[in-house]
Amino acid sequence: METPVGPVPLPETAHPRTTEPERALIGNAHREHPLESAMPRPLLFLDVDGPLNPFRAEHADLPDSYVAHPMRPTGWEPPARPLRVRLNPHHGEALLALPYDLVWATTWEEDANTMIGPLLGLPELPVVAFPHVDRFAPGLFFKTRRLVEYAAGRPFAWVDDGITARDITWVRRNHLSDALLHPVDPAIGLWEKDFELLADWPEDMGLVD
Ligand SMILES: [Mg+2]
Repeated sequence: METPVGPVPLPETAHPRTTEPERALIGNAHREHPLESAMPRPLLFLDVDGPLNPFRAEHADLPDSYVAHPMRPTGWEPPARPLRVRLNPHHGEALLALPYDLVWATTWEEDANTMIGPLLGLPELPVVAFPHVDRFAPGLFFKTRRLVEYAAGRPFAWVDDGITARDITWVRRNHLSDALLHPVDPAIGLWEKDFELLADWPEDMGLVD
């Protein structure tokens, strides 16, 4: 499991985007290929612990809709006690209503599809694998390079409690399209305002037809 990361404030700079010339290039590419006019939706990279499972929250502070589940993800064997994972079953429907293609980006990896998704009403989703990474290395968050590589130039949003200003800067410099890196406080999890931001961003950036 991930190392718990403290609450991360959402800085004004949390919306890295490319320069106008880069965006213009992407737009021209679509116009030159009218048969491919359907603009692919942005990706939404989903972390589990923090955004969906607010592991730092006091139980009394969570909405009543959250349900606690004892879980043993792969490798979490006795004598370790099961993890307490708190999930809001309404989040699945809310995520599916967003204008994105959802992708798991979590250390739960395939367990997200078998253990988390069904409790939220989510279908099986693509999973970003994180092989051969040092999850505790200092510096850039271990997921960041991998997600930019996976996106391969496609616009994406990312909700995660591990995002820092360093990741936002790195993505701005290394991803050739728009990206919304949205740090989520693990004491709160995804909230209505987060869904509103995620719903508005693709349209604000001209990323959806
Ligand atoms: Mg997390």
